[in-house]
Amino acid sequence: MRHIAIVGSGPAGYYTAEAAVKKWGEDARIDVIDRLPVPFGLIRTGVAPDHQSIKAVSRRYEKTAIGDTVRFIGNVDIGTDISVADLRSLYDAVILATGAPKDRELAIAGAEAANVFGSAAFVGWYNGHPDFAHLAPDLSGRHAVVIGMGNVALDVARILAKTEGEFAGSDIVSHALESLRASRIEHITILGRRGPHQIMMTPKELGELMQLERAAPQVDAADLPPAGDDAILEPGLRKSVTLLREFAALPAAASPDKPITIAFDFFASPRAIVSDGGGIAAIEVERTRVEAGRAVGTGETYRLPADLLVSCIGYQTSAIEGVPFDERAGRFANDEGRILPGLYCVGWAKRGPSGTIGTNRPDGYGVIDLVDEDIGTGARKRGRDGLDELIAKRGLDVVTFRDWQKIEEAEIAAAREGAPREKFVDIESMIAARGV
Ligand code: NAP
Repeated sequence: MRHIAIVGSGPAGYYTAEAAVKKWGEDARIDVIDRLPVPFGLIRTGVAPDHQSIKAVSRRYEKTAIGDTVRFIGNVDIGTDISVADLRSLYDAVILATGAPKDRELAIAGAEAANVFGSAAFVGWYNGHPDFAHLAPDLSGRHAVVIGMGNVALDVARILAKTEGEFAGSDIVSHALESLRASRIEHITILGRRGPHQIMMTPKELGELMQLERAAPQVDAADLPPAGDDAILEPGLRKSVTLLREFAALPAAASPDKPITIAFDFFASPRAIVSDGGGIAAIEVERTRVEAGRAVGTGETYRLPADLLVSCIGYQTSAIEGVPFDERAGRFANDEGRILPGLYCVGWAKRGPSGTIGTNRPDGYGVIDLVDEDIGTGARKRGRDGLDELIAKRGLDVVTFRDWQKIEEAEIAAAREGAPREKFVDIESMIAARGV
């Protein structure tokens, strides 16, 4: 019997559990441990609430979670409640699938001003993550600035631009929907320190900006390289740049039927936040040019008005005591997933915050191949019996998958009309909803 602990129940965690079941069947016991009482990580609290088709992948994880081979142990924080060393003594392999829940820091002067947020916090707010549900961003100003040219920046800009009606069928949490309903934001600027050929946005997500009811994208044609230069781009990026060209052909000013603008400001590197009595008033930006793929400052600066700023410049993994960490890369120090004997990582915790949800599938299957090579048929460790003993000894209140199903039923029952669920946004309500 092989005893496997997976820390984190997001896509990386459940694809890894799925791979373990495929590889060993009944000859393994797998515990998926999460610090929250609810599973699925980024699927629940990262993927945008209006992207329900992407969220539907959780049904696949559910198939893995049901049964005795794989257990869900929610509401247990590894590193605080139970150490990695404890787990390593009990399991043949401990696989960290903890993602990258922390924002990469926006290291500019004034970044501590009020109404300046990182995307983990802002996305967590509209997705009901218990750590960020009480963020209460002020949406009463006219100018929002979003830093970064990746898909998270697109998510944030789109959510800020949508009408209440456009959230039909989404599971955006009520506190965010109410706040967005009262929003007075009219100008959303997406700042990129490099140019159109260096964006990280994918075509499907970029194309959604054309479908918005009351908002339209704006690109200054002068920022675009000659069309012939697109030929060298890989096909996905070429499609994205073609969309930017379409945006550049749209009317340059807001119109009565599209009063909200989403303007792309390329070659613009954030330098400082200008505050006004504690709150953000503007952002100072330096014009750049791209040399050998890198943004180089030109010395020319300007200010953009900003009442709200969301920095979407990437994420980093949270360090855990006793686990070697690569500070520069913001993830666990690992060799293709191996950290220390019996200790592995997978997904964003291994490779950093890149790729789509599906990228985690081969990652999960890959790490199970490594574990299989390393542990053979297992070393007669105590596995989940030992964990249960520890949990009892420390008086931890575990949430099981069956408990989660009750929580989910309550969320479905509380949904507003047309919505799939109304999420509980704090840990106490989640735990209370499982009943007795
Ligand atoms: P990302 O794709 O890596 O984009 C980060 C952006 O931030 C880049 O444009 C980067 O510019 C910029 N940036 C980094 N540091 C900066 C700084 N100091 N100043 C200014 N700009 C800076 O990251 P992400 O948007 O957080 O997305 C993470 C992953 O999740 C990606 O793989 C993404 O595709 C995925 N995702 C997918 C979906 C979807 O499929 N619908 C939705 C959301 C997220 P440089 O290139 O110049 O560094």
